[in-house]
Amino acid sequence: VSVDAAACTSAPSDIAAPLAVLGRDVTVPLVTGGEVTYAALDYAASAPALQRVWDDVAAYAPYYGSVHRGAGYLSQLSTDLFENSRVAVAEFLGCREDDQVVFTRSTTDSLNLLAAALPADCEVFVFETEHHASLLPWRDARVTYLNAPRTPDEAVATLERALADRDPYGPALVCVTGASNVTGELWPVRELAAAAHEHGARIVLDAAQLAPHHPVSVQDLDVDWVAFSGHKLYAPFGSGVLAGRSDWLTQAEPYLAGGGASKKVARRADGGVDVEWHATAARHEAGSPNVIGVYSIASACKALTEAGFKNLVAREQYLIGKVQEGLAAVPEVKVLSLFGDDAPRVGVLSFVVDGWNSSHFAAALSAEYGIGVRDGLFCAHPLVRTLLGSDPQQQGECGAPEAAPGEKSLNAIRVSFGAGT
Ligand code: PLP
Repeated sequence: VSVDAAACTSAPSDIAAPLAVLGRDVTVPLVTGGEVTYAALDYAASAPALQRVWDDVAAYAPYYGSVHRGAGYLSQLSTDLFENSRVAVAEFLGCREDDQVVFTRSTTDSLNLLAAALPADCEVFVFETEHHASLLPWRDARVTYLNAPRTPDEAVATLERALADRDPYGPALVCVTGASNVTGELWPVRELAAAAHEHGARIVLDAAQLAPHHPVSVQDLDVDWVAFSGHKLYAPFGSGVLAGRSDWLTQAEPYLAGGGASKKVARRADGGVDVEWHATAARHEAGSPNVIGVYSIASACKALTEAGFKNLVAREQYLIGKVQEGLAAVPEVKVLSLFGDDAPRVGVLSFVVDGWNSSHFAAALSAEYGIGVRDGLFCAHPLVRTLLGSDPQQQGECGAPEAAPGEKSLNAIRVSFGAGT
């Protein structure tokens, strides 16, 4: 780690101390041999799967079989677990009776599926502050990128202004994130949904960061769709969810063409092939599904519900308060926020340290203090650039652009944790 010591008055130890309140010791075997014990504070990227989830998967592992395909008992059992998982997720999300729960690979996959299912001439409205998974899938549609708001009220007013100008008779979709993966700040989802509906638009909620921290109810928030990933919700990698209104999904071509999505397939007299696709969630789930991943998501949903979000939120808010208090005592630290330092947030917080390159700082936290954080632009380049006061139109590669020691940081450090910490 090379730093200009003269430019820095605060040291990683000043930051390590307030982060110690989050201490969750993980002992990890090193590829080079031996092991290291450290605090894993990168839940916003992927949260460790709950022991309860591993136990459920282990109990089922000896019995798993193909889903929707076999006559044998293993297949029947797997099909049952798979379809019951759909019901469990629908319950977890407070879905409407006629909503569909489609299993995908991740939030990114879910939003790309919805983008592929947009009706013709659909307009899409999305804030420039979104994670790339919510920002980018719509680029084949007529997209309006909305400027970063500086308060939740401004977010609603910005959306209302944009929607007021649109053709009120055409289809439109608003895409919004419930909690930022950079600042952890909560977005006014219910108010944005009301604004969207008032102007005849629909809304999809990217709940990748919200669902692990807060109850998400499709009906209470009155959103049309919600997307989230298993690996951020204490389940293993590889599975995600898109849940919500069935009409656009049923009218669309299948996301993937193949077995499972097709109900009837027949050769035509002219030599071609006719297909009748399923009108259920299966339409977008072609191929053999990730039954273990889906079962894991349902298990995580049940575990969170049983633990009670009220308790989880209370503990997390206590911890984030302590971290904020500790960081506020270090004058060189600037916590990044769009809506102001007191804005409600989940257990996700990014900051820069004056005089330090964020990548160097994060490396020092890991190597010297055993604290694993993330540095970079967090797949939300325009947002992080806005927060750092750098040019939001600047082109840069994913990863961590360097700033010379003493210069303004071009990237940030993120600490994230969850109720399981
Ligand atoms: N949306 C938000 C807010 C995220 O934080 C992330 C991942 O960090 C995603 C979407 C994409 O999730 P995934 O990588 O699981 O597709």
